[in-house]
Amino acid sequence: MERSTRQRSAIRDALQAAQRPLLPQEVLTAAQTQVPGMGIATVYRNLKALLDEGAIQLVSLPGENPRYETRGHGHHHHFQCTACERVFDVHACPGDLSRLAPAGFTVEDHELTLYGRCRECQPPPARRQRPSSSRPG
Ligand SMILES: [Zn+2]
Ligand SMILES: [Zn+2]
Repeated sequence: MERSTRQRSAIRDALQAAQRPLLPQEVLTAAQTQVPGMGIATVYRNLKALLDEGAIQLVSLPGENPRYETRGHGHHHHFQCTACERVFDVHACPGDLSRLAPAGFTVEDHELTLYGRCRECQPPPARRQRPSSSRPG
């Protein structure tokens, strides 16, 4: 396969496999497992091309660098871990939020980002819970 084609498909694969929005740097790390020596400029160039083709879409969270995700998994939301700062997909939706809008306003769309800690970043339990039943003696 031509090198540029290989790079492109490695970048696509990285986004597909992650199943969450990735920063260009995260795309690079993942794509380098397929194409060692790939540079960040290549990642940016291919992300732009994939974006123009409509194969991927931008995820812009306030105050964050743009991330990229594959298209075609419908309406969904995101969760950002405040510890590792990774962004994950949330496939639940509260549905119609019209009731939150001021009277007379029409809601056309919504975006929702949850913040907290991902599974890997849960703080260790402060102290082992003792069994609630008291021991004899
Ligand atoms: Zn985390
Ligand atoms: Zn929603």
